Amino acid sequence: MSAGGRDRELGMDRDITRRDFLNGVAVALTSALVPPRWLPAADGDAVPPGFYPPALTGMRGSHEGAYEVAHLLRDGAFWKTAGTPAATGERYDLVVVGAGLSGLSAAHAFRKAAGPSARILLLDNHDDFGGHAKRNEFSESGRMLLGYGGSFAIESPAPYSADAQALVKELGVDVARWSSVMDAKLYSSQGLRAGFFFDKETFGADRLLQIPTSTGDSEGADDEAEAKDGWPRFLAASPLPDAARAGLLKLLTGRVDYLPGLDETAKRARLARMSYADFLTGPAGMPREVVAFFQCRPHPLYGVGIDAVPAQDAWGLGLPGFAGMNLSDRPGPGMNYDSIRHKEADDYFFHFPDGNASLARLLVRALVPAAIPGTTADDIVTARADYSRLDEAASPARVRLRSTVVRVAHGAPRGDGREVEVTYSRGGKLETVTGRRVILACWHAVIPYICADLPPDQKEALASAAKVPIVYTNVLLKDWRAFQRLGVHRVHAPGGFHSSFNLDLPVSIGAYRFSRGPDDPIVVHMMRTPCLPGHPARDQHRAGRMQLFATDFATFERNIRDQLARALGGGGFDPARDVRAITVNRWPHGYAYQYNSLFDRFWLEGGPTPCETARRRFGSISFANADAGAYSYADAAIDHGLRAAREALS
Ligand SMILES: Cc1cc2nc3c(=O)[nH]c(=O)nc-3n(C[C@H](O)[C@H](O)[C@H](O)COP(=O)(O)OP(=O)(O)OC[C@H]3O[C@@H](n4cnc5c(N)ncnc54)[C@H](O)[C@@H]3O)c2cc1C
Repeated sequence: MSAGGRDRELGMDRDITRRDFLNGVAVALTSALVPPRWLPAADGDAVPPGFYPPALTGMRGSHEGAYEVAHLLRDGAFWKTAGTPAATGERYDLVVVGAGLSGLSAAHAFRKAAGPSARILLLDNHDDFGGHAKRNEFSESGRMLLGYGGSFAIESPAPYSADAQALVKELGVDVARWSSVMDAKLYSSQGLRAGFFFDKETFGADRLLQIPTSTGDSEGADDEAEAKDGWPRFLAASPLPDAARAGLLKLLTGRVDYLPGLDETAKRARLARMSYADFLTGPAGMPREVVAFFQCRPHPLYGVGIDAVPAQDAWGLGLPGFAGMNLSDRPGPGMNYDSIRHKEADDYFFHFPDGNASLARLLVRALVPAAIPGTTADDIVTARADYSRLDEAASPARVRLRSTVVRVAHGAPRGDGREVEVTYSRGGKLETVTGRRVILACWHAVIPYICADLPPDQKEALASAAKVPIVYTNVLLKDWRAFQRLGVHRVHAPGGFHSSFNLDLPVSIGAYRFSRGPDDPIVVHMMRTPCLPGHPARDQHRAGRMQLFATDFATFERNIRDQLARALGGGGFDPARDVRAITVNRWPHGYAYQYNSLFDRFWLEGGPTPCETARRRFGSISFANADAGAYSYADAAIDHGLRAAREALS
């Protein structure tokens, strides 16, 4: 079939993108003729009437218009043509750079301690607040459907700190309600479980199979009886060659000590220095298809595959091969936070239909009540924010979006310290404001470019916090009949463009209702982690980031349609008919980098961590963001926001 014919079959000619791209803006324009960056807001200060970024579809996350100024700064090209900044004359008690969870938490804590009349300004380069905590909103048949464009849930491998828990509670979120807002049995009661998609490019044939454990959650034998019968059936139905089937069965159900003759300490030292892929092909003697089978398992947490994840971490993550190795149930030195699970952390979980965007919205409502109606953590779910009210002169706290901070510098001593001048670029113009205190809650890798006076060791530490690229795609489907016919609600697809996809979690909060039956529209969440297997983690992240910036929306759309058609075609899925809207949340600068025993010697052998140097207070400037803890969870963002606020208040 010609490329054009396949495109038509996939529905690339359907007008969903154009129609939905304009969804958030009340203007009648043909998107093909208008560069996307014009759509969110015309150049200048004013937010266009009705501008509502959560409903924008197409390429979101790091959207066009959000990153160009920062990239010019990085390339040393910005100041050559920037012109002279205009002083706004605005003075604040606190200026926060970055309106993600960290910056918002910092602003909230500062205001609480300093009083409601404290003047606070938050600046962010995106057209929406929340940073990685991003809301995606769809509408189908008059009904609102929500998705999370980034941060998924209140959860963390380590227990939430008392301060972070107190903030969550203060915002009205009762995590103990989780089991009452989620219908945990909806999919399983209909026979749906996790699936595995073998693709022909990686495994020789396209085939979707149910994963044979009781929950389908893990490749570990969590239900021994089921695993005993289920895995042989699964493997027999798979397109894997005989040697790979035999190897996988041994790995999944056997109890072999693959490092005999070593005591536990020596085993752990070896496992911490060897990738899981090397463990599989080395001591465990597995063929390459077994590596391909597990390659993407750590993607959702590490942003890289098993070639760059230590074998000791794989043990912590519950990957198979360690049952016979006599490892005690305690973490070893050098393990990544993600592979150390604390039992107390398990009960502290809550997911809003838009993920942690609800937390960001609760914080913004507390700071700027006029911008978001309502009073509870239930009504926040369906509340429509008024973006034109975020930055009003009459409000003591203001959120100024589409504003990339390009310079932060101490000025003359004044009162209790040195004031800080903050310069930002908005709508092609440079403006300055002054803050008695400044909190940099933005990505640490940006800071050396905007804060020239920092000491060299701090700049180096900040620059080392290069983020992990990741994509969260939300696809609005007309219904989920194909999933039901195939008996899957979640599919792991290691060879796919997205390495996994799943039906949205059935969560109802306040007036929001989840998709009850297979005939209802639903949001499918897809995850892609661009990386370059075989290279050190940071190099993989750099390559993935470049790849993301170079991939256009049409390429995403074609791959999304193709992947869903191939995996779900057997259930009657028709991408041209069933796909109603697509939002690609591209995060070239995604998770905070977490240290890894394969690549960060200090992490395994001891010594100061770069994030401690990076977050050292500098005059009137403090440093927040999840990067300050090298910990990619919302609680780190909150904890470091609160610490920075305490510094600013002291
Ligand atoms: C896809 C994804 C899924 C995640 N899922 C979870 C989860 O389920 N649970 C969990 O606990 N954590 C999760 N996390 C991590 C967690 O969401 C983050 O740690 C947290 O939201 C980070 O908040 P932050 O404020 O530190 O940073 P950010 O959210 O990144 O906010 C910083 C803001 O600063 C802005 N900024 C940067 N430079 C400038 C500049 N020069 N001028 C102005 N603004 C600037 C950025 O654009 C951004 O908007 C996830 C992260 C990602 C990316």
